[in-house]
Amino acid sequence: MYFIFVILIFKKQFNMQRFKYPFHSKLHEVPTSIFAVMSAVANEYKAINLSQGFPNFNSDPKLIALVNKAMLNGHNQYAPMPGIFSLRDAIAKKMDNLYNVSYNPETEITITAGATQAIFTALAATIKKDDEVIIFKPAYDCYEPTIELFGGKTIAVQLDPEVFTVNWEEVKALITDKTKMIIINTPHNPSGNVLSREDMLQLEALLQDTNILLLSDEVYEHIIFDGIQHQTAALFPGLAERAFITASFGKIFHNTGWKTGYCIAPAEMMKEFRKVHQFNVFSVNHPIQVALAEYIKTPENYLGLSLFYQRKRDLFLSYMKTSRFEFEPSKGTYFQLMSFKNITDESDYNFAVRLIKEKKVASIPISVFNEPNYDTKVLRFCFAKTDESLKKAAEILCAI
Ligand code: PMP
Ligand code: GLN
Repeated sequence: MYFIFVILIFKKQFNMQRFKYPFHSKLHEVPTSIFAVMSAVANEYKAINLSQGFPNFNSDPKLIALVNKAMLNGHNQYAPMPGIFSLRDAIAKKMDNLYNVSYNPETEITITAGATQAIFTALAATIKKDDEVIIFKPAYDCYEPTIELFGGKTIAVQLDPEVFTVNWEEVKALITDKTKMIIINTPHNPSGNVLSREDMLQLEALLQDTNILLLSDEVYEHIIFDGIQHQTAALFPGLAERAFITASFGKIFHNTGWKTGYCIAPAEMMKEFRKVHQFNVFSVNHPIQVALAEYIKTPENYLGLSLFYQRKRDLFLSYMKTSRFEFEPSKGTYFQLMSFKNITDESDYNFAVRLIKEKKVASIPISVFNEPNYDTKVLRFCFAKTDESLKKAAEILCAI
């Protein structure tokens, strides 16, 4: 008995000692991602989860069969560092077919572990201490901490909370000799807004005669509604020559858990990207790349996506017609913003948590994407869900 007691005391001392050394967090103000937090609360309360952006239905069984086949055919060891050639080649062909732009699959395309890793690697390869990076808020959560991890400084432009359009004059006024990069995201998470051709031309004019890089996060490229055309940075020569374009297969093929995506950039930039990539992940899931290379050859597999999600958006909004939430239909992404200013003056965070606990519907409070304490009483709902989930959630929300 005494012996066990001594062991327990010793263990306690030892555990305490493990945390004895002063440790400077590089990201001391960064909390756990809101997506992880809200999904965990949603699971705990068995809520309908319209918070984190992922579909609650499966990928095409044909794609899953292709992954199985690739595994059975022995594609189970490291893939080549930049990704398998057939997948890079298929991406180059897709860019050529859709936008009539040419990227060299040998030197200008790299397969990544999702867009998050592509963004991380692009920033790691370029951002040095005191470099300034302009981003637009509300902003996807990974940009700012990653910039800061490499000693950069985030210069945030808070977008108008109603229309989310960019005032390029405001951006121009923020450019200094320290500006290293601008990050754009179109279609935009969380607002569902898109950058127009005019926006891209203005950005191109702004960057002309500068060395400023561009990171164009285009993960929702194929989820864009009402006939609007996606304006990829690749279409604008003055942007393409300085742009890392990031994309996600998880968004396109309903398998966010596979964590596969890619980055496109001019060869000189891609060379630097790969220097980091090889020590960041080295290479990405091999059988999934083999399957995607085959599956992506059929354009219908991704070109139908806009109509698929537009139907879901319209269905969800038709169910929400009688609610007290106010909304403008999303133009792209699978997110819909809803204002609750007619319902309560609680903070968006508190209201979102209360909705989960009391009503069993989960959403994302958008203040977490904004400048600190900028709460516009708006929640983000993900409509990449079965029709049944959307109907059930909307019935609950309409009764509030
Ligand atoms: N950028 C944006 C705007 C996103 O919404 C997401 C999340 N899907 C990502 C990047 C990251 O994508 P992935 O899941 O492929 O890492
Ligand atoms: N992109 C997804 C969203 O906006 C979440 C991805 C994640 O959880 N990191 O909801």
